Amino acid sequence: MGNARSQCDALIIGAGHNGLVCAAYLAAAGLKVTVLERRSVVGGAAVTEEFHPGFRNSVAAYTVSLLNPKVIRDLELARHGLTIVERRLSNFLPTADGRYLCIGGDATGTEVAKFSARDAQRLTEYGLRLDRIADVLRALVLQTPPNVVRGDWRAALPQLLRAARAGERVRRLDLPLQRELLRLFAASAGDYLDGWFESDPIKAVYGFDGIVGNYASPYTPGSAYVLLHHVFGETNGRKGVWGHAIGGMGAITQAMAKSATARGVDIRVRSAVREVLLEQGRAVGAITDDGEAIRARAVVSNLNPKLLYGQLIDQAALSEEFRARIAQWRCGSGTFRMNVALSELPDFSCLPGKQLADHHTAGIILAPTLKYMEQAYFDARMGGWSRQPIVEMLIPSTLDDTLAPAGQHVASLFCQHVAPQLPGGESWDAHREHVADLMIDTVTRYAPNFRAAVLGRQIMSPLDLERTFGLIGGDIFHGALQLDQLFSSRPMLGHADYRGPLPGLYMCGSGTHPGGGVTGAPGHNAAREIIRDFRRRYHPSPAP
Ligand SMILES: Cc1cc2nc3c(=O)[nH]c(=O)nc-3n(C[C@H](O)[C@H](O)[C@H](O)COP(=O)(O)OP(=O)(O)OC[C@H]3O[C@@H](n4cnc5c(N)ncnc54)[C@H](O)[C@@H]3O)c2cc1C
Repeated sequence: MGNARSQCDALIIGAGHNGLVCAAYLAAAGLKVTVLERRSVVGGAAVTEEFHPGFRNSVAAYTVSLLNPKVIRDLELARHGLTIVERRLSNFLPTADGRYLCIGGDATGTEVAKFSARDAQRLTEYGLRLDRIADVLRALVLQTPPNVVRGDWRAALPQLLRAARAGERVRRLDLPLQRELLRLFAASAGDYLDGWFESDPIKAVYGFDGIVGNYASPYTPGSAYVLLHHVFGETNGRKGVWGHAIGGMGAITQAMAKSATARGVDIRVRSAVREVLLEQGRAVGAITDDGEAIRARAVVSNLNPKLLYGQLIDQAALSEEFRARIAQWRCGSGTFRMNVALSELPDFSCLPGKQLADHHTAGIILAPTLKYMEQAYFDARMGGWSRQPIVEMLIPSTLDDTLAPAGQHVASLFCQHVAPQLPGGESWDAHREHVADLMIDTVTRYAPNFRAAVLGRQIMSPLDLERTFGLIGGDIFHGALQLDQLFSSRPMLGHADYRGPLPGLYMCGSGTHPGGGVTGAPGHNAAREIIRDFRRRYHPSPAP
């Protein structure tokens, strides 16, 4: 163990976007904050890197909507260089029979009517109802969930009030909407959408949100919540809309880092933490890989709870029951992520043309039906990856000329389903190249010029995501978004208030409420709780 050299109020392990947000709020409240990041760049899964000479792209997360407007405002992200633009079209979905569906803008109704006049009529009602329910979620995103506590009424009362406030939000919905909310938390995305629509393309466009990062069939119970999780955001004030950060997702975290640094936060990269320092059961600092011990009044983890409590804490300090719960924390997305450098835009058979058009700016969903998505999941369960995978392709260079040389492009391929762990104990390192070929072939089936246009590629298998970012099983959310791992149960009952079982040790990452996505919300909420504790213990300061 090294010497106790440094001293700060709060030591944050990990400079993912939530670690940076938490740091900025703590510093704004007057705390002295140090952030330690294992990689050479801050941002965690929200980073932009050059992956092929002259071509840059968001490496992992690739599109923005969930980033909370209060966080954008409070951290003055625009002043620190962040610009977010809207796509010209939300989604483009080629169908198996050579037609296509475009979603977004005025033509949506006409587009859906190509497949079903009834579905076109139901679109507005569907959007309105989902939005009313998403409003409940929006209102809870920046709240600390009611926590299960032991003790007398003094401990229980604040939690009861929180529960009552959350309940009141739900109560304000009329009864049919309350029933729908329950359905969205418990049912499958497929069953939910089958109840609304009859034609495949619109169900596929909406249903895709239910399997994003969720290693499941769209007919798996609980997948409707994942769909809901992807609609509570907004872009520049437009609810439910997804946009693009100029410069890629790294522009968001670079702006956050600037904001934090301007408030005095000390951010150190290439500083992996190997152990949380404990004294008499209390977290008092951390030890880095090169043996430096840094002491702090509060230690805050931006890591997946399984990584924190499984690898960085002396197991003897944790109860057997807590260790068992952490061991059962379900992690693992069915995600395979690629970035490709392109000499030209894809020329889709169903909507020909290599000149930039609206559909090139959309989230291009290559998975024509929910049944196709279900088969993709079954394939991955049996054989490790789907023979006919689901690919969402985004070509951000159509909206942002900072990413690729003039006339050329970069595309993000967000591919599902692959097994987080391959059957038979095989390594992803042995299969990543030919699975990447399969993904390129899948796009080429719809756009025949695609394979020849690929100048370079970056591959992120689930194992690569784990090794590069610390995302266990490639889990993009730091833990599955299922009922027993949400809200008061995230990461577990009794620890939903960003405090773990060890005094002085807090959590601020996506493994806490409201879960994964580039939201900034866990970082914001954790900061509020930490400031509250400092105010009680040390000195008065305002909470965010
Ligand atoms: C492939 C992929 C695609 C996605 N697409 C989107 C999208 O388009 N839009 C969206 O909103 N969300 C998307 N997500 C989800 C979103 O990116 C994540 O949920 C979110 O970025 C997690 O942020 P975080 O700050 O909680 O944690 P992370 O970003 O995981 O940050 C944790 C940080 O801790 C560091 N760290 C780990 N171990 C140590 C250690 N021992 N010592 C010091 N530092 C350590 C890591 O290097 C990392 O920087 C995607 C995620 C992935 C992986």
